[in-house]
Amino acid sequence: MARLGSWIKAQPEGIYVEPADAWIDPSQPKARAWVTHGHADHARGGHTAVLATPETLAIMATRYGPQSGQPVAYDETIRVGEVDVRFVPAGHVLGSAQIVMEHKGERVVVSGDYKRRPDPTCPPFVPVPCDVFVTEATFGLPVFRHPDTGSEIDRLLHRLHADPSRCVLVGAYALGKAQRIITELRARGHHEPIYFHGAIERLNQLYQELGVDLGELRHTGGASKAEMAGHVVIAPPSALNDRWSRRLPDPVTAMASGWMRIRQRARQRNVELPLIISDHADWDELTMTIRELAPSEVWITHGREEALKHWCMTHQIKACELNLVGYEDEDD
Ligand SMILES: [Zn+2]
Ligand SMILES: [Zn+2]
Repeated sequence: MARLGSWIKAQPEGIYVEPADAWIDPSQPKARAWVTHGHADHARGGHTAVLATPETLAIMATRYGPQSGQPVAYDETIRVGEVDVRFVPAGHVLGSAQIVMEHKGERVVVSGDYKRRPDPTCPPFVPVPCDVFVTEATFGLPVFRHPDTGSEIDRLLHRLHADPSRCVLVGAYALGKAQRIITELRARGHHEPIYFHGAIERLNQLYQELGVDLGELRHTGGASKAEMAGHVVIAPPSALNDRWSRRLPDPVTAMASGWMRIRQRARQRNVELPLIISDHADWDELTMTIRELAPSEVWITHGREEALKHWCMTHQIKACELNLVGYEDEDD
């Protein structure tokens, strides 16, 4: 009998689905690309035809201009070549999807990036039992255990209220994390205006157009220090130590990232208030998901493959590493 999933080939530039002649999240322009979500390491411009959720296509259009693509709603099955393909929620960012493929009686699920904890900006991850599960492993080490999101947000609010003459400047990835922090703050009862760096404006607008309520937002440009005192300011991580931040009232520098678990990373960025909030599964979420799906094989990509592979072996699940290049989740 042929190897499971032998119709799917891991190439350096992405995952090639041979019987559909399609690539998943390719790093090079391709004739047919299936895109799991809008982060730049997965969604690139220049493909001839893109298959993605309507939200992901809208994000790609915002970043790269109009896309020649076909929107596919969650749970809609379409046939491409000899493959039935379906996008199901991955719980990572707005529009993010796992790609479920069926061919010759085998089901393969490519997770893209995912997490299992609630996120007010997107529908939760849907577990789809399968023969082969292709998982990310960004935080694939037992040391990575993300704390409860609400308690991290409460730490932020506590710091904000402790000194109303200062602001709290939160570094957050522009797509997904920034909007999630805003909605998590709203969910914790913070209804004050939130200020944002201009680099986040278009994605904030897009999220709002797509139905995510972010409450009252204000651009930092044009606001005085006195107006911003006592408020939260959201900016991309690259702006934290930038000249731009001098316009803010004595900012407490925070950063929202799974990497904040590592103290050295926080120090490197001069982060005073590290917030461990990630859009990726932590170690427990990764292993819980594999247990729940009970696939015959796990293919691991995108991060720290070795430890998760070892965990699979000790749980009698066949596992291997896919060596794809060009995926970076430094700011997630
Ligand atoms: Zn991502
Ligand atoms: Zn990624």
